[in-house]
Amino acid sequence: KGLEDKKHTLDDLNEFKKIELDAKQNKSLAERVSIFRGDITKLEIDAIVNAANSMLKAGGGVDGAIHRAAGPLLQEECNSLRGCTIGEAKVTGGYDLPAKYIIHTVGPQDGSASKLQSCYDKCLGYQQEYQLRSIAFPCISTGIYGFPNRLAAHIALRTARKFLEKNPDMERIIFCTFLAVDVDIYETLLQMYFPVH
Ligand code: ADP
Repeated sequence: KGLEDKKHTLDDLNEFKKIELDAKQNKSLAERVSIFRGDITKLEIDAIVNAANSMLKAGGGVDGAIHRAAGPLLQEECNSLRGCTIGEAKVTGGYDLPAKYIIHTVGPQDGSASKLQSCYDKCLGYQQEYQLRSIAFPCISTGIYGFPNRLAAHIALRTARKFLEKNPDMERIIFCTFLAVDVDIYETLLQMYFPVH
């Protein structure tokens, strides 16, 4: 009986340690994500993501804002890339932007969750090659391309969480929200994917 009690205490201790460790990990992960509300072109970070179109031609929405702020040399570099398929991503310089790089990704127009997930994965996949320590995402596909906002945010946050767990060199992922609806969604869901107690 005495031995069994000891074993219980040991099990409890290990369980507490595990919970403590999880809490620490959650805290440090939560410190590496943030929500920014406003114009993504203002961010002075390593890379901002553009919700581009497959021709990589300056369009509307966030894409138009990025091209206007970066200047005409951005379109020239985009032209040399010969387009980008849905779910893929390509990198250019940031030109007149305070950000070093622009990662252009083409979101789905058909509501495909796996293609949207691929956009986030492919952008984050450039981390090593470009030594990215900070990256900001707009709400890809949720504007003109009509992807449901809430599902899009789940995909963005889940992908970011998985990536940050595996890649300590990424110091910060910023979710750039623009519309009130996305601010609300991200503020709620951030606490689910990055809990802090
Ligand atoms: P998509 O064609 O992929 O749907 P949009 O540019 O139409 O892309 O919309 C994506 C999101 O970007 C929308 O939430 C839109 O409100 C937002 N947005 C528009 N302009 C900016 C900007 N300057 N900075 C950040 N987000 C922006």
